[in-house]
Amino acid sequence: MKAACFDRVRGVRIEERPMPQPEPSDIILRVDSCGICGTDLLKFRQQSVSDGTVLGHEVVGTVADRGQDVRKFELGDRVVVAHHVPCYQCHYCLRGSLTMCRHFKETNLDPGGFAEYVRVPGSHVEHTAFKVPDSVTDDEAIFMEPLACCVRNMNRLALAANDTVLLVGLGSIGQMMVDLFRNRDCQVFGLDLKEERCKLAVKRGAFACATELNDKFVREIKQLTEERGVDVLLLTAGHMALVNQVLPLVRDGGKINLFASLGGNDESNILEYLYHREISLVPTYSATPDSLEEALQMIEDKSVEVNSLLTDRLPLKDLYDGITRLNNQEAMKILIRP
Ligand SMILES: [Zn+2]
Ligand SMILES: [Zn+2]
Repeated sequence: MKAACFDRVRGVRIEERPMPQPEPSDIILRVDSCGICGTDLLKFRQQSVSDGTVLGHEVVGTVADRGQDVRKFELGDRVVVAHHVPCYQCHYCLRGSLTMCRHFKETNLDPGGFAEYVRVPGSHVEHTAFKVPDSVTDDEAIFMEPLACCVRNMNRLALAANDTVLLVGLGSIGQMMVDLFRNRDCQVFGLDLKEERCKLAVKRGAFACATELNDKFVREIKQLTEERGVDVLLLTAGHMALVNQVLPLVRDGGKINLFASLGGNDESNILEYLYHREISLVPTYSATPDSLEEALQMIEDKSVEVNSLLTDRLPLKDLYDGITRLNNQEAMKILIRP
């Protein structure tokens, strides 16, 4: 079978790999679609994975083979699956930090979704794989994992009704967040360099969006929050310099919600600043199985709209093009059709 691997020199190379074989509790999926995730882009940019790694974890496929112990899925079932499973037994898991479980990041699909076939290990079959409802298309189903990360983030935020949010970065993640905040009666201010992303967010229900932190936008935020500033600053993109700029727009006692790595090694005194103003930091890393299930339900009942976020569908050989287009913000969500 063919797989698109990370190549340190060329970016991506296509390799011939042996067909994965199932252990008794595994299934083999013929990959129908696999979304390119922001974390894939980061891994390519930082070259943080070893040469030959097959990435891709937003996978929809058809069951092509299964181990003798598998009862959950039949051959031919359409299945959506995510890549990490907690152990449910360690210190972290027992205290609810499922995504900090040491086992979590060690678990993965074999080899990864940017391949024609993928082996889904038994623990994934049990916890992170779901039959795609008939009313949900492949295109929609690939949003299960990224949306689940957003859902889990919302649950961690402990919002109150009418909370105000400044949402930095209106890519596909930011747009889904707009829906989730709107569904919880929160007012969203969006910030993104791209005009069309701002327009889309307003269409989805954001209160106001801007491509820069201009006076008019700041005034709007101040007005709606009676000069307090927003309750939550959610960063789905950005850099430390921007954080310093937008921090004064967070109310005292508000929250900074970090949803992405901002990179860099800025020597600002941000922690001191947070301490004195009692601003809590709510970082969220990855999704848990229950949030995956919740996300799939939302896609099915259309309380979150995902179709408009998909800009391209590309064959396996064009994976690197897709990554480049996403890096240049020429596309919002791209999926690979191996
Ligand atoms: Zn992802
Ligand atoms: Zn654990």
